Amino acid sequence: MADTFPLIDPFARAITYLRVSVTDRCDFRCTYCMAEQMTFLPKADLLSLEELDRLCSAFVRLGVQKLRITGGEPLVRKGIMTFFRAMSRHLDSGALRELTLTTNGSQLRRYAADLAACGVRRINVSLDTLDDAKFADVTRWGRLPQVLDGITAAREAGISVKINTVALKNFNENELFTLAEWCSKNGHDLTFIEVMPMGNIGGNIEGNIEDDLGDTTGEPQRLGQYWSLSDLRARLTERFTLIDLTDQTGGPARYVRLVETGQRIGFITPLTHNFCESCNRVRLTCTGELYMCLGQEDMADLRTPLRQSPDDMLLTDAIRAAILRKPKGHDFDYSRQKVTGQMTRHMSHTGG
Ligand code: SF4
Repeated sequence: MADTFPLIDPFARAITYLRVSVTDRCDFRCTYCMAEQMTFLPKADLLSLEELDRLCSAFVRLGVQKLRITGGEPLVRKGIMTFFRAMSRHLDSGALRELTLTTNGSQLRRYAADLAACGVRRINVSLDTLDDAKFADVTRWGRLPQVLDGITAAREAGISVKINTVALKNFNENELFTLAEWCSKNGHDLTFIEVMPMGNIGGNIEGNIEDDLGDTTGEPQRLGQYWSLSDLRARLTERFTLIDLTDQTGGPARYVRLVETGQRIGFITPLTHNFCESCNRVRLTCTGELYMCLGQEDMADLRTPLRQSPDDMLLTDAIRAAILRKPKGHDFDYSRQKVTGQMTRHMSHTGG
């Protein structure tokens, strides 16, 4: 009989949320995330779409109800709609409650309708500026109109959009109200993400990328860009009345409602521990590594048991063993730069 007993960690937390990176590639080269000339992982290291299906389906069988697909940029993975279509069967069966993704928005015009047809109802789009020149500058290969058009396409397809914005001093500080008002006008939720106050911010600030890339990046320019969310919040109160919301997502975001516009704004501060006790999530890389905690480097290799046997017994055992190693909370240390990168990357995608 299939092993379907739900995943419960040693601290009695049920694991119901899996974030899955399907690629390390991206069509942008954000300065804080990637070098312009990147060497990506060899294909053999990546899980195939069929393997991703098997892995995700195993997690769904073990009680995961929410799947968030990430990258790199998930929509640049060849054949990705095959994977979304495959996952939609779990929505149809009722086993999965939510199938969602985090994207840079560049491919949404092409895929929004298909995503909606697969049952995707909400997405996160990472967007740090509404200024064409700054956007081109920071993403190197990205162009703002393409992303805004993608966001429009998502809305036209009936998909709700949450904007994730990394708060950066001397970069988007002067866009606080522009961003909030643009989101309000277009009906998007907005979440601000705080960067680490010191150290190498190497890796994808918006959370799209694989950890393996963390060491290849890291731009000294990020030093000095720390903009605390308590300061950002105080700035918001100059124009808006903020009401604290108690929404609990099992993740690190805290929310307020702006009385004047009715919109919800989230804040993610990577250093807080206040979400650990309700943590319901784990994270899988595109090479099959399972990270049990966003702030710790311990991981379990699931690719080996996956490839060792065509049935899922070894895989299920490996998943269960990994969940038993899920720590109580994240162990944060600024000197561990790789973890710093992971934390920031992970945080920026966990608000919803
Ligand atoms: S930050 Fe995101 S959009 Fe930019 S290069 Fe990295 S993965 Fe791509």
